[in-house]
Amino acid sequence: MSEATLIDGRAEAEALRARVAADVAELKARHGLVPGLAVVLVGEDPASEVYVRSKGEQSRAAGMHSVTHKLPADTSQADLVNLVRQLNADPSIHGILVQMPLPPGLDEKAVIEAIDPDKDVDGLHVVNAGRLSQGLPSLAPCTPVGCMILLRQTLGDNLSGLRAVVLGRSILVGRPVAQLLLQADCTVTIAHSRTRDLASVCREADILVAAVGRPRMIPGDWIRPGATVIDVGINRVPFDDPAKAAEGRTKLVGDVDFKSARRVAGAITPVPNGVGPMTVACLLANTVTAARRIRGV
Ligand code: NDP
Repeated sequence: MSEATLIDGRAEAEALRARVAADVAELKARHGLVPGLAVVLVGEDPASEVYVRSKGEQSRAAGMHSVTHKLPADTSQADLVNLVRQLNADPSIHGILVQMPLPPGLDEKAVIEAIDPDKDVDGLHVVNAGRLSQGLPSLAPCTPVGCMILLRQTLGDNLSGLRAVVLGRSILVGRPVAQLLLQADCTVTIAHSRTRDLASVCREADILVAAVGRPRMIPGDWIRPGATVIDVGINRVPFDDPAKAAEGRTKLVGDVDFKSARRVAGAITPVPNGVGPMTVACLLANTVTAARRIRGV
C-alpha cells in the first residue's frame, strides 16, 4: 500500500490567515470595524510567552488591533478578573484570551467564566460549550476548529455518515472536536483512559482524532486502512539517535506513531506542522467572527 497523504497544516494555516486578513480589510473598508484581540499573560512561563508573542504578531499581520497585557505571577484573582471585566467593556476589543496555564493560586475556571461569552475567542466559557453541544452558533475552541478545517480540506465538505473516533475528552480538545464532528453528521465515539479495547475502537474509525498527550501511543495497526488521522498531540521526547539524546536534545512527536501509521492511513497530519499551526490561525478567525457578531455585520 502506498504511503498516506501528508496533511499540510502550515500551508492551510497560511491560507486561513490570508482569508482572515482579507476579511479584516473588508470590515475596515465597509464598516470601519477593526477586529481587536486582547491577550492576557500572567507570569513568565517561557512556552506561554512564545505563544502569546506569536498571537500578537499574527493578529497584527492580519491587520487586527492587538493588545497584550503582561501581569506579574503574583497578580491576585481580583485584579485579573478586574482586567477581564475592563476588556469585556472595551468596545475596541472583540476577542479576549487569557493564556493558560495560570500560575498556582489563580482559579482558571473562574477567570474563564468572567470573560464575556461573546468575546470568548478561546471557546472555553460554559456558555459557548453549551451552545456548541446544542448545535447553536458559538465560538468553538481553536484547535478543534483547526482539526475540522484540515478534515474538510482532506475529505471534502461532506463528512456525513463517517465513523469518527476521538481519543481524549478534555474541554480544550476532545469534547469540542467530538461536538463539531457530530455537527458534521459523523457517527462519533469518544474514547478516554477508561475505554476498553482501545485498539478495536480505533480500528473502526474512518476519522481518528488523537488528543491524548502520550507520545506515539497509537501504532499503525490500530488504524483502519485508508483512514484520515488527525494527530493533535504535542509531546517532547529525546531524539531516537542515542548520541543526540545523550546531548539532551529533544524533538516533538504526536500521539500517533507516525512511521507505522503513515503506512496504513489514507491521510495524516505530521507533528510538527500539522494541527499546531492551525490553532493561532483559528484564533484570528474566531476574533473576526466575534467582531462581526458584536457589531451585527
Ligand atoms: P488532557 O491531558 O487535558 O487530556 C488528555 C485526554 O487523553 C484525557 O481525556 C485522558 O482521559 C485521555 N487519555 C490519557 N491517557 C490515555 C490513555 N492511555 N488511553 C486513552 N486515553 C487517554 O490533554 P489536552 O486535551 O489538553 O491535550 C492533548 C494533547 O494535545 C497534548 O499533547 C497537548 O499538548 C496537545 N495539544 C495541542 C494543541 C495544538 O495546538 N496542536 C492544542 C492543545 C493541546 P481521561 O479523561 O480519562 O483522563
